[in-house]
Amino acid sequence: MPATRLDGKKIAAEIRSEVAADVESFVAAGNAPPQLAAILVGDDPASQVYVRNKERACEKAGIASRLDRLPASTTQAELLAKVAELNADPAASGILVQLPLPSPEAGGTGIDERAVLDAIDPIKDVDAFSPVNVGLLMQGRPRFLPCTPHGIVQLLSRTNISTSGKHVVVVGRSDIVGKPMAMMLAQKDSTCGPETANATVTLAHSRTQDLAEVCRSADILIAAVGRPEMIRGEMIREGAVVIDVGINRVDDRLVGDVAFAEAENVASAITPVPGGVGPLTIAMLLHNTLMAAKMQAAGN
Ligand code: NDP
Repeated sequence: MPATRLDGKKIAAEIRSEVAADVESFVAAGNAPPQLAAILVGDDPASQVYVRNKERACEKAGIASRLDRLPASTTQAELLAKVAELNADPAASGILVQLPLPSPEAGGTGIDERAVLDAIDPIKDVDAFSPVNVGLLMQGRPRFLPCTPHGIVQLLSRTNISTSGKHVVVVGRSDIVGKPMAMMLAQKDSTCGPETANATVTLAHSRTQDLAEVCRSADILIAAVGRPEMIRGEMIREGAVVIDVGINRVDDRLVGDVAFAEAENVASAITPVPGGVGPLTIAMLLHNTLMAAKMQAAGN
């Protein structure tokens, strides 16, 4: 029997309408609407699309958005000044700097991405990339959770897939997806409760030996590699749950990191690409922006 498709689009819509309802009561209580302030440096087409999608999603949830577009020639000092301006602006609840910053080949000035992310006030850090928020997550007392792994926890919880006591293999150790995903599932508790935590986690990467065997030992396999269809059917244990984070453009269509047609015949449940993890990332960004506004309103 082919695997159940985990409908990320539907779950993201659910979360977005929950956020919208919560924003409405927050504003009805006399607060200014939350605002997401995005900074876009340069004119990378994919980044423009991402920023536009975030703006639209904000609007639908009743969240205000502000976009500061800066030319590719922006220097690090100029970008840091913009971040400082938004840190000091009480209207800006959440700040995000759209990545990647332009490379020197794309007219960029070689800005140190880390320095810019570090400069965002941790209370406005809705991407949860600042060392303070990463540290809090590591210690099991998170403030903001990074959007993609948090979306996956929500997806697992809302489809009644428990991770407690299971062997989860995460392939990919980026700061944005793999590393925080592994950390979140290894904790004693999650925002959705202990059933979507308490996993025994293996974090695999490009130096992992015998990746296929490691993957086959997973009850839940999470692929965040950025290599089209790298995870083949024979790397998946019969009945495993497969979460495909990858978004790769191949011949004008989007494919994941998992060979879907093969995996579907082995797994018990799987996220499609597109329509799986992707929509959840934006939903969780809205959630974080509202959280930021609430914390700021409460003077935290
Ligand atoms: P990165 O490029 O930052 O990290 C990729 C990771 O994969 C690295 O840890 C790398 O290992 C590992 N890797 C690369 N090749 C192999 C290999 N052959 N075997 C095992 N591991 C390998 O990617 P991101 O985490 O930023 O993104 C991963 C994918 O997820 C991309 O397709 C991206 O587009 C997508 N994505 C989707 C999002 C969504 O909303 N759905 C959000 C963010 C990303 P090493 O560290 O050793 O180099």
